[in-house]
Amino acid sequence: MQHSQPAAGRYAPSPSGDLHFGNLRTALLAWLFARQSGRQFFMRVEDIDSERSSMESACRQLEDLAALGIEWDEPVIYQHERGDAYAAALEQLDTYECYCSRRDIREAASAPHAQPGMYPGTCRDLTEEQRAYRRSQLAAQDRLPAIRLRAHAHEWTVTDYYKGEFTGPVDDVILKRGGNLKQAQAGDWAYNLAVVVDDGHQNIDQIVRGDDLLGSAPAQAYLAHELGLKQPNYIHVPLVVNAQGNRLAKRDGAVTLREMLAEKPITEIFSQLAASIGVSDVTSADEVLEKFDPRNLSQEAWALVLP
Ligand code: GLU
Repeated sequence: MQHSQPAAGRYAPSPSGDLHFGNLRTALLAWLFARQSGRQFFMRVEDIDSERSSMESACRQLEDLAALGIEWDEPVIYQHERGDAYAAALEQLDTYECYCSRRDIREAASAPHAQPGMYPGTCRDLTEEQRAYRRSQLAAQDRLPAIRLRAHAHEWTVTDYYKGEFTGPVDDVILKRGGNLKQAQAGDWAYNLAVVVDDGHQNIDQIVRGDDLLGSAPAQAYLAHELGLKQPNYIHVPLVVNAQGNRLAKRDGAVTLREMLAEKPITEIFSQLAASIGVSDVTSADEVLEKFDPRNLSQEAWALVLP
């Protein structure tokens, strides 16, 4: 695919609640990497999971990021509006219908030789006759099959700024979930497809995100390859943890921007965010943009000490 658009970075929050210190730190890093390298910077609202996402939450997240001085290029993309693009991408891929329930997958995955966490391939090589039978069995339960990628590689290698070359397994990932005929649900698009299609659409060649997502990068990069998209460069950054060393969560205390603002001015919160990425004595986004040096970002998880 040819792009006349300039290369870009992005931040892609899921709007299921206010961003906490860890999310804000990743957003700041994504903005810094993009702007320091002269890239465009986009916001993508990952509201593909309609049950867990809300427009109100998306608005609050964008307001919080703007309050910190993080600015972005337009337009903001909302995944709930991108169904046609996902459908067009699905057409280009080698796929098959999958009739398995979660339980089927669990049972098949516990068989000897099954690879943990990987789809055991139950529906990959069915005959047309077997498919018609499985389809009718599902229809009797008012269910539609899911669509999976027929992967032609077992593993894929990505390049990450901090982690170097990273090779991981490629699976027959779900691209579209099975729907329920009774509730007239077409079935939700799967995250792995949406993220790759949207990164391609926005010409994202620099993906900054939490390192909990490193494991999904090879499968996503493989999918990009299958769609004829350029391989993005990855920058997976360590997460923020609580005093016990567990990934920071909202229940850990006053960790969202709005909660923190009840206790201290925004400049102080900003200094704390900047200190967590190795920049001291700054109170604004512009100052941190001048001073941030990616080599000083600790590769350990950052522990947030709450009062
Ligand atoms: N929406 C994902 C999250 O909030 C980010 C995924 C990505 O950056 O690729 O964790």
